Amino acid sequence: MSDYRLNTKCVQGGYTPKNGEPRQIPIIQSTTFKYDTSEDMGKLFDLEASGYFYTRLQNPTNDYVAAKIAELEGGTAAMLTSSGQAANFFSLFNICECGSHIVASSSIYGGTFNLIEVTMRKMGIDVTFVAPDCTEEEINAAFKENTRAVFGETIANPALTVLDIELYAKAAHEHGVPLIIDNTFPTPFNCRPIEWGADIVTHSTTKYMDGHGAGVGGAIVDSGKFDWMAHADKFPGLTKPDDSYHGITYAEKFGKEGAFITKATAQLMRDFGSIQSPQNAFLLNLGLESLHVRMPRHVENGQAVAEFLEGHDKVESVNYPGLKSNKYYPLAQKYFGNGGCGVVSFVLKGGRKSAEAFMKRLKLAAIETHVADARTCCLNPATSTHRQMTEEQLDAAGIPAGMVRMSCGLEDKQDLIDDLKQALEF
Ligand SMILES: *Cc1c(COP(=O)(O)O)cnc(C)c1O
Repeated sequence: MSDYRLNTKCVQGGYTPKNGEPRQIPIIQSTTFKYDTSEDMGKLFDLEASGYFYTRLQNPTNDYVAAKIAELEGGTAAMLTSSGQAANFFSLFNICECGSHIVASSSIYGGTFNLIEVTMRKMGIDVTFVAPDCTEEEINAAFKENTRAVFGETIANPALTVLDIELYAKAAHEHGVPLIIDNTFPTPFNCRPIEWGADIVTHSTTKYMDGHGAGVGGAIVDSGKFDWMAHADKFPGLTKPDDSYHGITYAEKFGKEGAFITKATAQLMRDFGSIQSPQNAFLLNLGLESLHVRMPRHVENGQAVAEFLEGHDKVESVNYPGLKSNKYYPLAQKYFGNGGCGVVSFVLKGGRKSAEAFMKRLKLAAIETHVADARTCCLNPATSTHRQMTEEQLDAAGIPAGMVRMSCGLEDKQDLIDDLKQALEF
């Protein structure tokens, strides 16, 4: 599939049936797999042969879909996880341990913020947050002796800041650590972070990739470019023998292309078991088959709604990287050839009160803790997804209390604008 264009990979990537095999990806609804001899199975447990033995670690349906996502992102290996949260946790915990430190953009999804700031701190993993649009000096100053990864979101949910991936990649690489990018919002249709220097890409496939609000899921893609052995002391989990697998060394045995995902599967999936169900993987693939058809409509609707809101006198500000007035417009032009995403945020004059009144009047756009599916929805983050954050943290993440996040679906854009028009008459 690698010779084909992205649109074709969306439809046919990952799975190529042989003569007489199912045209659609089969759902392998089986917890376990049968072998003729114990020796055959033993090879799998020793990671001497690749194959399946237990769906807590790997399942063929998931692997077909992961292979498609790897092709779309331009990576060498990928895995599906039960959620985007699991994907981001695994991507970090695969190379961090108690005593490690992470440099992360302060403008990230609320769940990821809690994961890194609260839960991973309890595991003894330290973090320094930096502004998404920090200078090279500022990001360089955040590194410590024990820094093991840099983390950011291409387009942050919900702040819609655009990360300067090249700047972050340069800083990460100068300090001998990989850049992990959560590429959930643009999807590989609109941005492929690996082409700009990212080493690991994660997704909440729950969003545009699934695209229909049907299944929670996540994915991790490895670019296969980061040279673990060149920084062997920093990443002993990849560069030193793993006693739980008879002393194999992932970076030696599976190379740059396969070490990261193999380790995450063999250790983290084995121990945490956050696998995506094969049923959900099947649904995810249905979404991926039309990703390239849906994304342009999401972007078109997002752009139209953003332009309408920008001209409305009850709206204090509109945040959409596709608007010329947006601070991130130049970065969006650079990184997103096809536009960014369908999520628009805006701040109503009158703060929290106005936001609440506006939300009550909406008819077509539903109130949901979700974004990025076929149906338009709205959310006031300060009172929902980000309610654990202090006022200072909210400000640092660029989420004022009166902000509304609107995820433009695939409906007719004029109907969306008409709904906004009447809801703004509060
Ligand atoms: C939703 C989201 C997540 C978390 O994903 P889940 O599938 O809900 O666990 C992570 N990152 C971003 C950017 C998201 O939008």
